[in-house]
Amino acid sequence: MIDLHCHTLHSDGTDTPEGLALLGEASGLAALCLTDHDTLGGIPAFVAMQSKVKVRLLVGTELSCQFLGRSLHVLGLLVDPVDVRFQARLVELRGRRDDRNRRMIVRLAELGCPITLEDVQVHSETPLLSRVHFAKALATRGFVRRAPEAFERLIGDDCPGFVPREELSPAEAARWIREAGGVPIVAHPGRFGGSGFRWDEAMADLQQLGLEGLEGYYGEYRAAEQRYFVALAARLGMVVTGGSDYHGAHKPGLRLGCGRGGLKVPDHLLDRLETQQRLGTYR
Ligand code: AMP
Ligand code: MN
Ligand code: MN
Ligand code: MN
Repeated sequence: MIDLHCHTLHSDGTDTPEGLALLGEASGLAALCLTDHDTLGGIPAFVAMQSKVKVRLLVGTELSCQFLGRSLHVLGLLVDPVDVRFQARLVELRGRRDDRNRRMIVRLAELGCPITLEDVQVHSETPLLSRVHFAKALATRGFVRRAPEAFERLIGDDCPGFVPREELSPAEAARWIREAGGVPIVAHPGRFGGSGFRWDEAMADLQQLGLEGLEGYYGEYRAAEQRYFVALAARLGMVVTGGSDYHGAHKPGLRLGCGRGGLKVPDHLLDRLETQQRLGTYR
């Protein structure tokens, strides 16, 4: 079993990179890829654990793009952690995130929920601030009862307090990841566009734009969704990956390696991914 999608406190999870490596070992995983949002900040401490654990520790990140007017997440799996140009590109993305965060503070005040960036920072142990930390700040300041309510009423994708970031296109994300030696993967397509969204054509379009794989196994998929996306990847000749999207205490009940219980990502997907990394797509 492997897990190619998870987060630490360097983005919006709660585990340290060291703790995550140990948990990967304790969970009996053969390989574990860390994919924090917009940062490789947890990677040095994570890969330094390789001498202490048998589970293979792999490098990745998760980027947010705009596609068909909505937010689409793209995983950069197996990127080179010391690629200077890619690091600079991540710095730029974090700058856009900081800008978005400042505008969300203004918007929330207009909506009668005045919080400060300091209120948000209290809930993050690293400088990267995500909506997860906004949700906690809104709860602490009493504007919602609990963090999930903040996503339902205020800061979810379709809510009035949500401000999108300056957009990154899927083509640009794919190119950045490829140029850093990684494989660009459409993250959790089942969470995009609602359950009625027809993926066949849209996925072929993303493939044309440079996306080489899709997440066919995911911590929150139903069995039918997994079958559908694995078959879609096969039809298009795309790589299949899989992971839990573990966030520690920020997504209670979602466990590393096994998601909500039924996830089992086969080891052989990593062999195929590494072949894709070396050879790319020939068409
Ligand atoms: P950001 O990258 O700052 O826009 O925050 C996005 C993160 O917020 C996602 O990666 C999730 O961890 C979390 N998130 C987004 N929507 C929801 C939701 N409806 N409920 C709970 N968490 C969410
Ligand atoms: Mn997240
Ligand atoms: Mn995501
Ligand atoms: Mn994720």
